[in-house]
Amino acid sequence: MEQEKKINSLEVALKQVEKAVAHLNLDPGVVAKIKSTRRELTVNFPVKMDDGTIKIFTGYRIQHNTTRGPAKGGIRYHPDVDLDEMKALAMWMTWKCAVVNIPFGGAKGGIQCDPKSMSPRELENMTRRYVYEISMLIGPDRDIPAPDVNTNPQVMAWILDTYSTLKGYSVPSVVTGKPLELGGSVGRLEATGKGVFTIAQESAKLLNFPIEGARVVIQGCGNVGGTAALFFDRAGAKVIAISDYQGGIFNPKGLNVPEALSCRNQYSCFITHEGPGWEEITNKELLELDCDILVPAAIENQITHANASKIRAKMIVEGANGPMTPEADDILNDKGIFIAPDILANAGGVTVSYFEWVQNLQELIWNEEEISERLIRILKKSFAEILTLSQKEKVDMRTAALMLGVGRVAQATKLLGIYP
Ligand code: NAD
Repeated sequence: MEQEKKINSLEVALKQVEKAVAHLNLDPGVVAKIKSTRRELTVNFPVKMDDGTIKIFTGYRIQHNTTRGPAKGGIRYHPDVDLDEMKALAMWMTWKCAVVNIPFGGAKGGIQCDPKSMSPRELENMTRRYVYEISMLIGPDRDIPAPDVNTNPQVMAWILDTYSTLKGYSVPSVVTGKPLELGGSVGRLEATGKGVFTIAQESAKLLNFPIEGARVVIQGCGNVGGTAALFFDRAGAKVIAISDYQGGIFNPKGLNVPEALSCRNQYSCFITHEGPGWEEITNKELLELDCDILVPAAIENQITHANASKIRAKMIVEGANGPMTPEADDILNDKGIFIAPDILANAGGVTVSYFEWVQNLQELIWNEEEISERLIRILKKSFAEILTLSQKEKVDMRTAALMLGVGRVAQATKLLGIYP
């Protein structure tokens, strides 16, 4: 059988930029600069495993662009992590920070590993050694990591401790998404999911249908997908399907979301435990379900030319980064499906990460209301700006979002000039 070619996320990210650049009147030299990656660090490092053997891991820290401020981006632990994926994710971070107009550039890091087969001690050893290896790049005013796929507040705590140990004093602002007890911010854990929900609300208003009673399908039930599911559920939407990497569950009448998520937490999968009124479903079937709102919240390249024409959602709100290829984008736009793009829809996480960083630097503590109010204000403003641009320029929301983000980075580049 012919092997399906792995989609290269960097090629996807570059194609998206080129589409936006075609609508902007930019100096080709500036375009070349902002398409290129500023710094790429690959590290190969040893970790002592529980059975006494030494294993070599490969990790990356990429700084795509630092024109608008220190680099910012998550750390991913996944078997598919590679240099091009990291470069794509770092580039999306640059545009995302510019779209919501926070003073950060874009970065990403990760380790090629299978965290599910590793013990907590092995994960801690791997994290600490990785931080040591990338410590020449990161820092509160240089590059600030955060959680991404398969990393969480505990991993951020190990990053903070390792970096602080190397410095000889505590540096909470080196990382965001850390536990509250260590200077984390209220509202950070749920920020990305809350942002996805807020953008879905704005999109539904535009499309003129209520969130209450809307049928929602969510791929992925981690920090982004799981949290978004709870927000939809609390607002009276019907979450009819949700999944993890092994597959998902479906109930056309609506799932009991808290129960489904607690079953997933308890058994590490949905499918070994028969839940009330739900049936098993594959990730492929899930994406093609008839629904009002589809939220891909897992990994890249889930909606491609192969399945785009089978998507039956009214709108797609991209919780994941890069869940859709440009070919799929074209097919869905032709079908009239509204797409709230990743660099807007999942920007809640980096926005509250910015609040966390500001609080750490100023040694202040904001309350939940302040955080939530500021987050929602920023996201609604960004949505409105992108919508206005998309209507004015007669382009889809992704192109408009990229025009806004790329345009802001290009303008900052022009103002700074080229050294020397
Ligand atoms: P997570 O590790 O908490 O959850 C990932 C989820 O995706 C899990 O439920 C996992 O089982 C599922 N998954 C993994 N591989 C899959 C596959 N091949 N098919 C189907 N499901 C699969 O990660 P997260 O933080 O929720 O991140 C999810 C997405 O959101 C990623 O694209 C990430 O880059 C993006 N994102 C995360 C944040 C954040 O604050 N955590 C912010 C912005 C964007």
